[in-house]
Amino acid sequence: MKVPLLDLKAQFNTIREEIKNKLNEVIESQYFILGKEVQDLEKKIAEYVGTKYAVGVSSGTDALLISLMAIDLKPGDEVILPSYSFFATAGVVARMNAIPVFADINPYTFNINPLDIEKRITEKTRAIIPVHLYGQSCEMNEIINIAKKYNLKIIEDAAQAIGTQYKNGVKVGALGDIGCFSFFPSKNLGCFGDGGIVTTNNDELSEKLKILRVHGSKPKYYHKIIGGNFRLDEIQAAVLNVKFPYLDKWSAKRRENAELYTRLFIEAGLSEQEGKLIYDEKNTVLLPKAMYKGYKDSNGNEITNYHIYNQYVIRIQERDALKKYLAENEIGTEIYYPVPFHRQECFRYLNCDLNSYPISDDSANSSLALPIYPELSYEQIHYVVQKISDFYFKN
Ligand SMILES: *Cc1c(COP(=O)(O)O)cnc(C)c1O
Repeated sequence: MKVPLLDLKAQFNTIREEIKNKLNEVIESQYFILGKEVQDLEKKIAEYVGTKYAVGVSSGTDALLISLMAIDLKPGDEVILPSYSFFATAGVVARMNAIPVFADINPYTFNINPLDIEKRITEKTRAIIPVHLYGQSCEMNEIINIAKKYNLKIIEDAAQAIGTQYKNGVKVGALGDIGCFSFFPSKNLGCFGDGGIVTTNNDELSEKLKILRVHGSKPKYYHKIIGGNFRLDEIQAAVLNVKFPYLDKWSAKRRENAELYTRLFIEAGLSEQEGKLIYDEKNTVLLPKAMYKGYKDSNGNEITNYHIYNQYVIRIQERDALKKYLAENEIGTEIYYPVPFHRQECFRYLNCDLNSYPISDDSANSSLALPIYPELSYEQIHYVVQKISDFYFKN
């Protein structure tokens, strides 16, 4: 049985005609840049995330970059972010000639550890970029408290987390000063190329983001500040407008798939419970800790949140051998991420203390993302767990 990591055609098959009709409209209009499709999308996303504004941009990476420009990040300023994320989170800080400062992650969630953030604050610290990795919210109350205490900006990297809820149903992207989303095709809401959006409740920031998006010009050809071409185009926005009404249904399906994995792993004797942390036995699969069920944050408060499972990431021993074995059995998997930031060649100049990121290091060596996309069948998920079970129990 073939189980690819992601199957975009399976989703496209369910909306083919709608998409084609909508794209045809855009093509016939011959209006391609920042038009009614983008405006429509911005309105929907702002309402969905629960912010006053949303500003469509060219990618998730550019969403982060334009946000740092909007808060007027200066060369030499320090920005604290997790040592374990997609490269863009750290890359944008360095591109601003600012200094990325890495903090280690929480072993349950793969998300930045608020206790480690506070240890790394200096008088140069200007901002924090919490990343809601794999679609699960960071411990935002703790992060917001730290930001208030030290007067720091929060730029949420919600690229993998559209629709993710933090406690009490508040959505990520509405918790910090600015929220950044990506519409890369593999995200829960993906377009047919690159795209992103920035959310904020702040009037001034929203105005500045809109000006920065078009080279800093307002009115046209008059530049008070220097921006860039960070525009989202009509074709991408049109695709997103067609897909948007299905987003919650798709994310719910991913959660169902995650719950099925969890049940099957436990039934197969590969795991005892979600979020089990100690894997001293070879045959233990560490399951992603979903919804923080019964989980307490750093202050001991119980959390219930809503994980959208952009990725379903387990941690296991002999990860590389297992990945190879699954590939031989036509099961697609991926390692997100094999090299944490403190070990990236391009960040050697930062002279990071390589011993101070044990959880990131462990995650880089043991994590494996399994297929989780909404259109997976029961049989496919069953097959994946069966093969993992074969690997551990037959060898
Ligand atoms: C995808 C992603 C980005 C970048 O988004 P692009 O649209 O690919 O530029 C940034 N941060 C994280 C955590 C991501 O997963």
